[in-house]
Amino acid sequence: MNYPWQQTQWQKVQLQQQADKLPHALLLVGAEGLGKLDFALQLAHSLLCQNQSSDGSACGVCSSCKLLEVDTHPDMFIVQAEDRGKAIKVDEIRQLSASFTLTSQFGGYKVVVIVDAHDMNINASNSLLKTLEEPVSNSILILVSSNPQKLPITVRSRCQLIPFTIPESAQAIKWLEEQGIGQSGELLSLAHGAPLLAMQLKESELLENHLLLIQSLLSVARAQPLVGLAEQLHKLPLSYMLNWLYDWIQDLIKLHQCGNQADLVHDAYRSELAKLVDRSSIQSLYEYQDQLIKHKQLQSIPLNTQLLWEDLLLSWHKQLKRV
Ligand SMILES: [Zn+2]
Repeated sequence: MNYPWQQTQWQKVQLQQQADKLPHALLLVGAEGLGKLDFALQLAHSLLCQNQSSDGSACGVCSSCKLLEVDTHPDMFIVQAEDRGKAIKVDEIRQLSASFTLTSQFGGYKVVVIVDAHDMNINASNSLLKTLEEPVSNSILILVSSNPQKLPITVRSRCQLIPFTIPESAQAIKWLEEQGIGQSGELLSLAHGAPLLAMQLKESELLENHLLLIQSLLSVARAQPLVGLAEQLHKLPLSYMLNWLYDWIQDLIKLHQCGNQADLVHDAYRSELAKLVDRSSIQSLYEYQDQLIKHKQLQSIPLNTQLLWEDLLLSWHKQLKRV
């Protein structure tokens, strides 16, 4: 079944399908952690199932569903980069386009799901464009992307956009609790409201990494030596760490601007943050944030992340007034 926050999108495509008006290409967009790929796969299964239920979901027992279960359905294609974050290359799209033009083996739809479609390199996008310009009947392309701005406008404009948004927090918390996940409010806040990301935080070591970051920032604020801390931090996943550090600074800026009523990502550390607000100026916080944005925008991981962390912790220390 779809996630509760995807009902509107699901009903929309079901209505289009029933009216035989499903477009040849769909582009599923929205933040990470909202289940877009699960939605794409469910839609693909639903289109290929020979005995669809009334709500559009796949039956799970027909011969198509059985083949989908073991990833061997001849009319279902999944394209993704070899490694996450690497480019999807032109050969992969060419192969796909070649098999896509053949008639479907089951006599129904042929479905392609492109995972992280924004990872297609320029040649791959151009090759896909040809397929988009000359659609084959009964074929559906489902592109999934959390970063659609990276896709050429020529590709985007040929797809029907299906946006996914962050659910109401009450709905997300209810869902997380149904999955047996405690501390759901805090997790959801760290995941910027994306329920699957919140679940991933709970299930991985990321939450401990987050704790280590916050403890390090508080230690540096107490003028503890920072080299040892940088040595620990540099081994942790950089993109998450930079995002949380950004959130931490953003929380301080919000406290400057809105006082204690501010809505904080690090609500659990409100009293610690409140003390730090008095020691920082909004100007220096903005400058620190600019520094973080530059690091976040770097495409590749810097060679020496230990030095990077020493630098970040030193800047954090410098912009705090001593007590
Ligand atoms: Zn079925």
